[in-house]
Amino acid sequence: MAKDYYGILGVKRDSTADEIKRAYRRLAREFHPDVNPDPAAQEKFKEINAAYEVLSDPRKREMVDLGGDPLAPSGGGGGPQAGTFVGFQDIMDAFFGTQSARGPRPRVRPGADAILRLDLDLHETAFGVEAPIQVDTAVLCTTCQGAGTAPGTHPQTCEICQGRGEVQSVQRTFLGQVVSARPCSACQGFGTVIPHPCATCGGDGRVRTRRSLTVKIPSGVEDGMRIRLAQQGEIGPGGGQPGDLYVEIHERPHDVYSRKDDDLHCRVTVPMTAAALGTRLTIKTLDGEETVDVKAGTQPTSTLRIRGKGVPHLRGAGRGDLYVHLDVRTPTRLEPEQERLLREFARTRGEEVAELSKQGGFFSRMRDAFNGHQ
Ligand SMILES: [Zn+2]
Ligand SMILES: [Zn+2]
Repeated sequence: MAKDYYGILGVKRDSTADEIKRAYRRLAREFHPDVNPDPAAQEKFKEINAAYEVLSDPRKREMVDLGGDPLAPSGGGGGPQAGTFVGFQDIMDAFFGTQSARGPRPRVRPGADAILRLDLDLHETAFGVEAPIQVDTAVLCTTCQGAGTAPGTHPQTCEICQGRGEVQSVQRTFLGQVVSARPCSACQGFGTVIPHPCATCGGDGRVRTRRSLTVKIPSGVEDGMRIRLAQQGEIGPGGGQPGDLYVEIHERPHDVYSRKDDDLHCRVTVPMTAAALGTRLTIKTLDGEETVDVKAGTQPTSTLRIRGKGVPHLRGAGRGDLYVHLDVRTPTRLEPEQERLLREFARTRGEEVAELSKQGGFFSRMRDAFNGHQ
């Protein structure tokens, strides 16, 4: 009876190589005798390794799928190799993480991107602006031109790692000796040391400074948009390629207009009489004054639309619209003559208006009704 290698790893028979590897790593971390002191763990660990040896090898896996056992002494096909521990690199990866590319890391590396906030008025976001900005950033050290060495000196090969940038350490495990590589701490993995660093930059190859530049903001930008200035971010260590600078637009709130996409909205108060009789309003737009007609019989919460007086579209031609929301106001205090005229007006329209006593108005009567007083 062949061993159930799939069952040992807890994977399905149609699992991919990747799924098998993941299952193996998870179990290896759990049952490794260095981690799990239970005596049964060692047996279990060997079993897991055997299962992985078989299932990670397409040829051996095929034998299993055909009902054979490549690790059985008489199984045939296993040969003298059977039982060899093949998961070695994988268990190293499981415990120490996958090793990245070997060799010393370069001293010259790309610089980081930077982001800068720019506050603009509605006029500026609408029509564009050339805005002066100041950036605190890292620039190339002119003393050493990025090399990080004092004038006339050079980096030297690290004596600890002989320029490899990594050191190997040998660990004893119950599987035997395990060799692993780590970045060399003497040279931080560079493989070289700078015995005489540049006095200006301390060996970094760059210095911090404040730079002034002008950013051209196109018309129609919106709050929250970012404008990318290629290679205007900080220069990299050792004089590496600069990152990008992003300028993030923040639009200051306007006291008259609120913006929705490329449309603008504002509110204008209109007396009740003007709404009833019609009137002509002068509206301030982004481009200057504009007169609009309020038709006779305009209702409260009416909106006027002035086409093309919104914000220019960022892409393509054209502009948004300006919406003027009308607040129709009813007079709050009437002179006796005005009241008389309004009553007369109501009477001619056949509108019934109840007379309220001056002392106890509508609200006080309502209050009395709630309190149960008649
Ligand atoms: Zn320098
Ligand atoms: Zn070193």
